[in-house]
Amino acid sequence: MTVRVRFAPSPTGYLHIGGARTAMYNYLFAKAMGGTYVLRIEDTDTDRSERKFEEAQIEDLKWLGLPHNEGPDVGGDYGPYRQSERLHIYKEWADKLLKEKKAYPCFCTEAELTAKKEIAVAAKLAPHYDGTCRNLTDAEVEAKTKAGLESVIRFKAPAKAYEFNDHVRGHVVFPEGMVGDFVIVRANGIPVYNYAVVVDDAAMKITHVIRAEEHLPNTLRQLMLYEAFGETPPEFTHVSLLIGEDRQKLSKRHGATSVRLYKEQNYLPSAMLNYLLLLGWSHPEEKDIFDIHELPPFTLDRFTKSAAIYDIVKLNHINGEHLRLLPTDTLIAEVEKVLPAGHPFLKMDHDWKVRCVTLSKEKMNFFNDIIPLLDLYFGSEVSTEADYVEARSWETTPQIQAYLKGEIAKAKAEGKKFVTEAEYNEWSNHVKGELKIKGKQLFMGIRAVLTLQAHGSDLKFIVPLTPIEVLEKRLSM
Ligand code: GLU
Repeated sequence: MTVRVRFAPSPTGYLHIGGARTAMYNYLFAKAMGGTYVLRIEDTDTDRSERKFEEAQIEDLKWLGLPHNEGPDVGGDYGPYRQSERLHIYKEWADKLLKEKKAYPCFCTEAELTAKKEIAVAAKLAPHYDGTCRNLTDAEVEAKTKAGLESVIRFKAPAKAYEFNDHVRGHVVFPEGMVGDFVIVRANGIPVYNYAVVVDDAAMKITHVIRAEEHLPNTLRQLMLYEAFGETPPEFTHVSLLIGEDRQKLSKRHGATSVRLYKEQNYLPSAMLNYLLLLGWSHPEEKDIFDIHELPPFTLDRFTKSAAIYDIVKLNHINGEHLRLLPTDTLIAEVEKVLPAGHPFLKMDHDWKVRCVTLSKEKMNFFNDIIPLLDLYFGSEVSTEADYVEARSWETTPQIQAYLKGEIAKAKAEGKKFVTEAEYNEWSNHVKGELKIKGKQLFMGIRAVLTLQAHGSDLKFIVPLTPIEVLEKRLSM
């Protein structure tokens, strides 16, 4: 069997992170099985679907790095890949059901249906369609059609239980009587979701459906339709929902839910995919940080059953881990994109940039996290922290300041632009050995006069990266 899977988004908005996760699972499964991954656009909701959203979703899938093998933009043997262009196919398949008396035209109006539903509810009966048009004769149908009455196509729901095995949910049973006869094609010829999805999945020879758990109840109607068409249903995998900290379904209330917003905030696609993958699937070697393109083969038995809580803090952490894995030159190039024009970083030489980003990345989750970190090398902001004020009050601190001022003046006179780590170590030894300043007074005192701060990273790294003019300026403050 050649595996064929699909991701079937509705173009009614930007790509949702839950959709991105579904797309990734389908992509990975196809890849692991040497199969085909199809992108199908489910645009039958004509009021809400827009071409610009289809384009945006395809762009976002590309940004994430999840290319499809078939789809509206790349073509394929099973097109068209937009449901709005497949109306003739839905009609053909519906005509077959009509002919076989597995479906029938229904002329009941909205008002009549609402009234019937109210009566059923009042009588504490299931609000199923009462079957008024189920047994109309061909002549009756013809007469109503001739009289200009509008009709939908309604499917005769078989009175029996349905069951299937889901790769996540296990054995699922839908008892008899859960649904009544349901509409498959509206009066305007537009198919409803449950019908179109079955026609498309069958016609496109989809073998595995991997989708969100919210579609589990739809599977009942879909199984009925597969049976009516004499088609074998695909294998189903209903992936657990993404929820917020409050355990409610993830929505805009919980913050950014569209991939686009993450792209705009400079998240790394590799980190997004890593994080989204873990929200519902576990790595066979229990790894947390990985490149999804280098995973061991993706299998359908590692999905988690419980809903996954979307945690932006964890995502940000993973983004930092991926940022640290980037080649240094890539990191430099990305950092340069986020720095304001004229930033002194941009004018430094390559070796300096390498040392600077290598040191800085330990404290970064995002490229622009470097901006405040660069103040260490270029800024002359004086700390207002109590520890700093205290260090400045010690009588030893002006001695250190005077000594270092002299050293800097010497280095400058020799034409140096930076001091080395060895020179910095000599200063520190001199303050200890000659000036006899020890402990806190030594370390915090040197830090206070050289950085104007009381705390921070190791001075032996910071000082050699700080231009001499900056050190000179700080020492005069
Ligand atoms: N268009 C549906 C959605 O966006 C697809 C559901 C399915 O995969 O069957 O949820």
